[in-house]
Amino acid sequence: MHQILKKYFGYDSFRPNQEEIIRNVLQGRDVLVLMPTGGGKSLCYQIPALMLEGTTVVISPLLSLMKDQVDALVESGIYAAALNSNNTDEENLTIRQDCIRGKVKILYISPERLLAEIPFLSRYVRVALFAVDEAHCISQWGHDFRPEYTQLGILHHEFAHVPVMALTATADKVTREDIQKQLNLVDPCIFISSFDRPNLSLEVRRGYRMREKHLAILNFISRRPDQSGIIYCMSRKNTETVAAMLQEHDINVAVYHAGLSTEERARTQEAFLNDHVQIVCATVAFGMGINKSNVRFVIHYNLPKSIECFYQEIGRAGRDGMPSDTLLFYSFGDLAQLTRFASDSGQKRMNLERLQRMQEYAEASVCRRRILLNYFGEQTDCDCGNCDVCKHPPLRFDGTVLVQKALSALVRTDQKIGFTMLVDVLRGNMTQEIVSRQYDRIKTFGVGHDVPARDWHDYLLQMLQLGLIEIAYDENSHLKVTEAGWQVLYGKSVAQLSVIVRDEQSDRNSKPKRRNTVQAVKVKDTSKVGDEQLSENQDLFDALRDLRKKLADEQGFPPYIILSDKVLYLLCQIRPVTLDAFGMISGIGEYKKQKYGEAFIRLIRTFA
Ligand code: ADP
Ligand code: ZN
Repeated sequence: MHQILKKYFGYDSFRPNQEEIIRNVLQGRDVLVLMPTGGGKSLCYQIPALMLEGTTVVISPLLSLMKDQVDALVESGIYAAALNSNNTDEENLTIRQDCIRGKVKILYISPERLLAEIPFLSRYVRVALFAVDEAHCISQWGHDFRPEYTQLGILHHEFAHVPVMALTATADKVTREDIQKQLNLVDPCIFISSFDRPNLSLEVRRGYRMREKHLAILNFISRRPDQSGIIYCMSRKNTETVAAMLQEHDINVAVYHAGLSTEERARTQEAFLNDHVQIVCATVAFGMGINKSNVRFVIHYNLPKSIECFYQEIGRAGRDGMPSDTLLFYSFGDLAQLTRFASDSGQKRMNLERLQRMQEYAEASVCRRRILLNYFGEQTDCDCGNCDVCKHPPLRFDGTVLVQKALSALVRTDQKIGFTMLVDVLRGNMTQEIVSRQYDRIKTFGVGHDVPARDWHDYLLQMLQLGLIEIAYDENSHLKVTEAGWQVLYGKSVAQLSVIVRDEQSDRNSKPKRRNTVQAVKVKDTSKVGDEQLSENQDLFDALRDLRKKLADEQGFPPYIILSDKVLYLLCQIRPVTLDAFGMISGIGEYKKQKYGEAFIRLIRTFA
């Protein structure tokens, strides 16, 4: 087991649960694997596939995912193939013949195709193992339900002695039980890994309006040149707005949404995988079927509708385990809109509940990772140190007067206005609507002119979180003073608010950083790395990345399939100049050593 891990995948040790899972499969047990995205599920069936006699059949819902996996396996010297309609008839014929001869070790197939191929498989092929990837697609309760999956229960009838393994990154209990039942798993071993992704940083920015968001995004990206990222937006229009804004700043970006044709979407995805496009502005439709391991950041331009969605989306960053960043913008407008969607949906109560948990995350003043893990049923007793709350614990001040100003303005407008207009009244903005409603004549008009509008947005969100105001979603999302709010307004209780720390301020205080990889080097070895060495490492890293891209383009597959960012980083650190030293690097197996070793060593030597 360990030899195969080293030889084909170049790793020295297993991650938690992997070894146990593999042992159970080898003993012929059914297994259910729950692991977060990037946790290392694939190895759990790939290693048994290489150890067992016959062919392991992997059921996977998406053609693009299959292609990626097959490319990666072939690049590791393993005979894998996908039987599907993208192939020519001859190609499929060859694959079938090689299955009969037992040459194909891992065969990927879609669920509908599998059902059609059952007679062939049961008669001519020695099937070692069935692995059902993305097994949550079987559950109607989940977000990716696929009807074809519900027929997979047949596997255990047709292949009585072949173990079935189900794998998913969706953790909830209903889905888990559904998978077990529908696949007819026999007394399965269930493995639930921690859902923590410590390499993902977590950050929320509250109350930004469009222009501020755009500035913050530009700032964020300028600190990450050439790094791949995804920006999730709620609407197609937003994806286009953000993309246009980035294009104006010469950033290499593409959009992805349901309004594009299938071909256009495929092209965008392909360009992103191959590092021809740096950033994709996408609606939620983008992502499933993306195995790209070097996504370095995920930005949520809008609030997601649930923590499940949010976690799945940020999970697409940092699959290679390298430090990656996530940023969520939280605004009142999004909250109001999502509440409307949820209220109009078929499952109103459940969707409102989900949204509320998402809101709690966005408003948190305790470690955000603890909230996420808690949501997935994992308790931790320490703060993570890698979220904005941990890094900048909120400072509080007595905000009673500010709150009183806002509440008083609200009361004087008969509580018939929403967020934006309240800010306008406080700031004393003579908008047309304000004048026509004569709000410019009320006593509190302009009492908050000394506080910038964006800070008012933040304070109002804080007041919402503190329960001093509430939103009447059934009355045009107007704001109402709550019981607790009246107490503050009458001076019977005080309101503690958090000091607002702006991104630009914290940026100014920290020294400019060149690139993320340099930061990573810094984290790893803080002892005595001088600036000179940092920049030299960066130059080497860039050169290695260019070489990887060149090799990838020549062969027509994504760069990360050749070597992951993590391997490039290790090459920078260790700088191997012999083939043997190259082969010792974690993540480089025998096949890659022979195929790419010389080219990389030659480059590293020029830096020696
Ligand atoms: P998942 O399918 O669970 O999302 P993958 O199987 O794609 O995750 O694995 C994510 C990354 O982790 C891959 O780059 C893989 O090579 C790496 N990986 C898996 N197992 C190990 C291990 N034991 N040691 C080091 N890296 C590993
Ligand atoms: Zn934290």
